[in-house]
Amino acid sequence: MPATPDVTAASDATYAARVRGLGTTVFAEMSALAQRTGAVNLGQGFPDTDGPPEVVEAAVRALRSGRHNQYAPGPGVPALRESIATHQHVRYGLGVDPDGGEVVVTTGATEAVAAALLGLVDPGDEVVVLEPYYDSYVAGIQMAGGVRRPVTLRAPDFRLDTDALRAAVSPRTRLVLLNSPHNPTGTVLTRDELSAVAELAIEHDLLVVTDEVYEHLTYGAEHVPIATWPGMAERTVTISSAGKTFSFTGWKVGWATGPAHLVGAVAAAKQYLTFTSGAPLQPAVATALGLPDQVLVDLRVDLQRRRDLLCDGLSALGLEVFVPAGTYFATTDISPLGYPDGTAFCLDLPTRAGVVAIPHQVFYDDADAGRMLVRWAFCKRDQMLHEALDRLTRAFG
Ligand code: PMP
Ligand code: GLN
Repeated sequence: MPATPDVTAASDATYAARVRGLGTTVFAEMSALAQRTGAVNLGQGFPDTDGPPEVVEAAVRALRSGRHNQYAPGPGVPALRESIATHQHVRYGLGVDPDGGEVVVTTGATEAVAAALLGLVDPGDEVVVLEPYYDSYVAGIQMAGGVRRPVTLRAPDFRLDTDALRAAVSPRTRLVLLNSPHNPTGTVLTRDELSAVAELAIEHDLLVVTDEVYEHLTYGAEHVPIATWPGMAERTVTISSAGKTFSFTGWKVGWATGPAHLVGAVAAAKQYLTFTSGAPLQPAVATALGLPDQVLVDLRVDLQRRRDLLCDGLSALGLEVFVPAGTYFATTDISPLGYPDGTAFCLDLPTRAGVVAIPHQVFYDDADAGRMLVRWAFCKRDQMLHEALDRLTRAFG
């Protein structure tokens, strides 16, 4: 696994050299390791079962209709833009105009984040970002020539330290890149924490780009989009994706919503990344967004049960488990197992136990903050979770 490259500061290196320096993502690398070794993959976050069959059928119908196999309109298929706007309105009371440049469909949330950074950050601009951070944030900030200013969520609670947040803002700060529910810690930012971010953004006239791909995967915690705060809708780009909500991570259908002047910047960058996103899956995601609420309730209940199954099992191994309030990842402190750090543990784990997990270290600049922490995905069938726990018990029990 490559060490996290030192890309904190925008450098004079060429764009190509900076991108080459980023290496392979840890998720891809660990999934390849799982395949090579036959390990149970609790590393990369993807479910091992498909989402609702009626959504698959809608995709098949779109493919066969002969109406969705050429380029989609730049901002996305109208039916999907409409469904996204309805979702934002019905769930959160947010008004976005699907035909007025306030919604753009992207190739996953990954493209939405990258396009937002490329479209809104100038070289040398600072981006305040929660650490541990999802890997593509570092790359996106770096590709835009920005400078990241991490604010660390620390164990055991992984709460937002609002003093540290305030201290991270400087006259060069352009935007705050938020992620809630947060990967990898599972933190769901509270109303107080979000108020602190909103207050700071308004005081310093900052933009907020908020990645809410796990908006529906919460367990007893309330997810509130920061765009709903007074004064925030006009300065916030909200990003989500169908991958996590509907268990179709391979479809890569995401979106960004917000005021036209910000979404326009995302769309401008997006045009030259992918031009438009895959057409036939878009009507199917519109169908998914229109499913009865119960589908999401069932998903949440089922994931919470699997969260508890995995967390109880990891805890029975003697590990400290940080039970997440959102996402489908649980974090443990692996100190009792005798490894120098989480990376050494995760590199040894496939051969020693036949399981793959992800070391938190790859998500930090401050390697010490995440040194002994390891992330485990629980979006897998019960049978796989039991198998992983049996293997871990045989190796470490
Ligand atoms: N943001 C976060 C926090 C994620 O965990 C992921 C992984 N799904 C993404 C963005 C990427 O989403 P997508 O697969 O829709 O590009
Ligand atoms: N979001 C997934 C995770 O955190 C991985 C997606 C990817 O591999 N880019 O594991």
